[in-house]
Amino acid sequence: MHTIGILGGGQLARMLVLAGAPLGLRFLVVDSAADACAAQIAPLVQADWRDFGKLADFAQRVDVATFDFENVPAQTAVWLTQLTSVFPNPRALAISQDRLVEKALFREIGLATAAFAAVDSRADLDAAIATIGLPAVLKTRRLGYDGKGQAVLRSHADADAAWDALGSAPLILEAFVPFTREVSIIAVRSRNGEFRHYPLTRNWHASGILAASLAPAPQTEQIEASAVAHARALAERLDYVGTFALELFDHDGHLLGNEMAPRVHNSGHWTIEGAHCSQFENHLRAVLGLPLGDTAARGLSVMLNWIGELPAANAVLREVDAHWHDYGKEPRPGRKVGHATVCAGSATNMHECLARIGRALGREAQVEPVLAALLPPIQGGEPGFRAA
Ligand code: AMP
Repeated sequence: MHTIGILGGGQLARMLVLAGAPLGLRFLVVDSAADACAAQIAPLVQADWRDFGKLADFAQRVDVATFDFENVPAQTAVWLTQLTSVFPNPRALAISQDRLVEKALFREIGLATAAFAAVDSRADLDAAIATIGLPAVLKTRRLGYDGKGQAVLRSHADADAAWDALGSAPLILEAFVPFTREVSIIAVRSRNGEFRHYPLTRNWHASGILAASLAPAPQTEQIEASAVAHARALAERLDYVGTFALELFDHDGHLLGNEMAPRVHNSGHWTIEGAHCSQFENHLRAVLGLPLGDTAARGLSVMLNWIGELPAANAVLREVDAHWHDYGKEPRPGRKVGHATVCAGSATNMHECLARIGRALGREAQVEPVLAALLPPIQGGEPGFRAA
């Protein structure tokens, strides 16, 4: 019987716990919030990231520690390695915490990125705009997520407001990518070096937050091969252990690296019902050095995120092909409180089921782009699925 320690007690930790129960695993979760949603189903150590007394006690009670949250201070992760096994390693965590370092690494492994520059002063911002051009996106180097800590600069007039909003922290300016679509590759590497990847996932964001994912994404073989090669190179370079996500922009058939998440990822939630072995179970297998499970898709999956508050569950529960997930969190604007995954054997069935859910919930805007990608026009549009 192994006990897995998880730093962070959000929905990702909760889904790791749910995946680990059939494997006979026990869990211990660390979070500063007494109402962390994973604590509803696993014991909690209530502590913050600098409470080394409580963290030492936590380390003694677990066989291996891992993360549901990438912004655990890297120093805490390094310190923890003296007391227990920590996966992924603190270096991988530290690199993913800084967008500038992360993008430099992408380039080192041959993954192209948008043009970018460090911005540490108002003068740097002007210089970066002169080099990179507009439109561009100004982002905090650290602690940004779900579109927070970002501003799009469309004209020089936007620079002052963006600087006033973000300028107190180290920043990065990135060229705005007029992407054709956003995709991610979820991959997993085990303690013994075994590597597997899920099929490419297409993602749609609203206000910087993931709204919907479709997997396997309609794609060319060359795009998937390129995404997989980059994910593998990244995992090997970082000596990465566990599940991770590599988020990419597809710009007219060329992939650009946006960011990596050193953990299970929202764009991989579809794997719970839509793949033979989920990203959560594979993460646990990886950190324990067990054989990895099959990452192949069972059919088509679409995941819809519930942001802010849950819609009426019955519209999803009525559907034979749909699966409902309520994270047990209090509603709050911008907060991920649940998701649904629809699994279908054909694009036609998926289309019908999603359209019904969208209508029943008044969420036509959320499902519309996915519907369009499922059954693209015969003439023009992107290559996509055909009805089975
Ligand atoms: P991020 O936190 O970097 O993943 O950004 C959140 C979302 O903002 C992305 O998924 C994109 O939809 C959008 N975004 C971020 N960076 C860029 C960029 N350089 N060009 C265009 N869109 C971007």
